[in-house]
Amino acid sequence: MAKIGINLTTGSLQQEEIIVGIDLGTTNSLIAIIHPDSKQPTILKEFDNTTLVPSVIHFGKGGQVSVGNEAKQSLITEPQNTIFSVKRLMGKSYKDVVERSSFFTYKVLDDGTDNLVKIEVNGTFYTPVELSSFILKALKQRAEHILKTPVNKAVITVPAYFNDAQRQATRDAGRLAGLDVLRIVNEPTAASLAYGIGMTKDEEKIVAVYDLGGGTFDISILRITNGIFEVLSTNGDTYLGGDDFDNSIVQWWMEELSISAEELQINKSLAQALRLKAEEAKIHLSRNDNFIGTVNEKPVRLTKEKFDTLIEPFVDRTINSCSNAVTDADITISEIDEVVMVGGSTRVPFVKERVSRFFGKGVHDRVNPDEVVALGAAVQADILAGNNKDVLLLDITPLSLGIETMGGLMDVLIPRNSKIPSKAARQYTTQKDAQTGIVVSVYQGERDLVQHNRKLARFTLSGIPAMPAGLPKVEISFLINADGILVVSAKELRSGLQQTIEVKPQYGLTDDEVERLLMDSLHHAKDDIQQRALVEAQMEGKLLINTTKNFLEKNKSYLSGEEMAATNTALQNLEEKISKGTKDEVQGAIEKLNEISKPYAERMMDIKVKDALVNKNIN
Ligand code: ADP
Ligand code: MG
Repeated sequence: MAKIGINLTTGSLQQEEIIVGIDLGTTNSLIAIIHPDSKQPTILKEFDNTTLVPSVIHFGKGGQVSVGNEAKQSLITEPQNTIFSVKRLMGKSYKDVVERSSFFTYKVLDDGTDNLVKIEVNGTFYTPVELSSFILKALKQRAEHILKTPVNKAVITVPAYFNDAQRQATRDAGRLAGLDVLRIVNEPTAASLAYGIGMTKDEEKIVAVYDLGGGTFDISILRITNGIFEVLSTNGDTYLGGDDFDNSIVQWWMEELSISAEELQINKSLAQALRLKAEEAKIHLSRNDNFIGTVNEKPVRLTKEKFDTLIEPFVDRTINSCSNAVTDADITISEIDEVVMVGGSTRVPFVKERVSRFFGKGVHDRVNPDEVVALGAAVQADILAGNNKDVLLLDITPLSLGIETMGGLMDVLIPRNSKIPSKAARQYTTQKDAQTGIVVSVYQGERDLVQHNRKLARFTLSGIPAMPAGLPKVEISFLINADGILVVSAKELRSGLQQTIEVKPQYGLTDDEVERLLMDSLHHAKDDIQQRALVEAQMEGKLLINTTKNFLEKNKSYLSGEEMAATNTALQNLEEKISKGTKDEVQGAIEKLNEISKPYAERMMDIKVKDALVNKNIN
């Protein structure tokens, strides 16, 4: 058995260095650490006791940038230069967000392309990555200010439904802010960790994480087995949250106070005052039954009962999503062991009741719902720092792993983002008659051609008994064990041949290298498809040349001189196109050769069939 050991992890971390956990939220962001004394996850608090940093960026006329509470003040008064909800734009093109363009009060550039969106503020263009980096930079400074020590490493959370582009964008934003992003963690995973769910070995659980924030709702169903967090399903509504609750209160008060929509359009400060008061009322009603306040000297009031009826349609929608998520996860509600509440809006008692009723059990709400994700990120950071040795650190592979097949193509056995441990096996065969050796080259990366990926190892399984091409069955198997070590083995199944070859182990990639390889694959996605198509056409062409030559060898006498000449010209043309033509040219040459050979190939077929019949008759 051929065996090689490859270390895929990025190496150990220094224990002394602080790694912060960051919840980069749509509405609010937070930072947490494991407290050095109490060893408990703790939210970093400023001297003024604030923990939440609103995810809002304000660009002043003089070019100064502010983030957080200060920026939030300008949300309604200076909508063009105050950026909120940038998380919604991460990894998105204008086409992705065009349907919701009215949601953004600032200028999202319409370039009519699939390129990533840009935002224009005061004549300057910003990408969502840059904008997010302003928030992360502010969080980093805040952490350094509170901890009185440099902060360079972080774990950042993202929604479970974030795709690769969105995760990558988040990572890039961290790097731009001067943070080494050690891990991107799913928000529901972090929330579970904050409750200690999934922290014990051999633990098997199904967990539903209900996250209702300011502007987004999502429900994730996770299956936890031995420290592996698997997302069974996600569902939700990216435009549903506490903001809708506030709006429904504003609408109700507008009726009560006879304020028209037009009036609110013009009177921005009244609009602002109403919204802020509505949020205040909502928060008050999470602990009380009545709210009384004033807006521009006019009294406003709201009972909890009225509030519940106002928000009921929104809550109904979330329950509907929960039901879909359960169906998609292919489980029954009774199989769910734990329900975790996340997001500031789950503080609303009516929300809690409805969720609890739907799942038929009590919900976890002991931890602050707007802090739980950041706290879990801190737990994850601590595991990464190696301080929590009891927990199995399980991970996903950052890049695809595969082997080189005909024509230098990458054949992926373990796709990127597969959970670890992971294994995969595939059968291959020989190209030539009596081939006794097969070369296995192992690569890591996302590109279609191995030459653009990173070579990890190469070895030969030799001593395969001579057999016709295509008959040997060589099974190549990949196993990534819990330590992130890749073991590759090769075995010829017919003969049982296994072979051990010494391969010098190669060491892991740094995060930067992983990022570069992924970025490359994104940038070259189009080229790669074309390149793969060209290689495939070339392979097809070579195969056709071989079979044609074989055929000519055996059946020369049946062909006319003309046919012979035409075939030779077409063969030559195909060879030429394979060596320096485009994919279309190669395919054209293949078609030409096929056209020429078709008549005599058919003729030969007839003769062979007749022969066979004759033989049969004799028998
Ligand atoms: P996000 O994950 O979208 O960044 P959060 O989880 O911080 O958002 O949730 C913010 C939302 O929670 C806001 O709509 C806010 O008004 C709401 N919220 C915060 N505290 C309470 C409370 N006590 N009662 C009701 N809603 C609350
Ligand atoms: Mg959140």
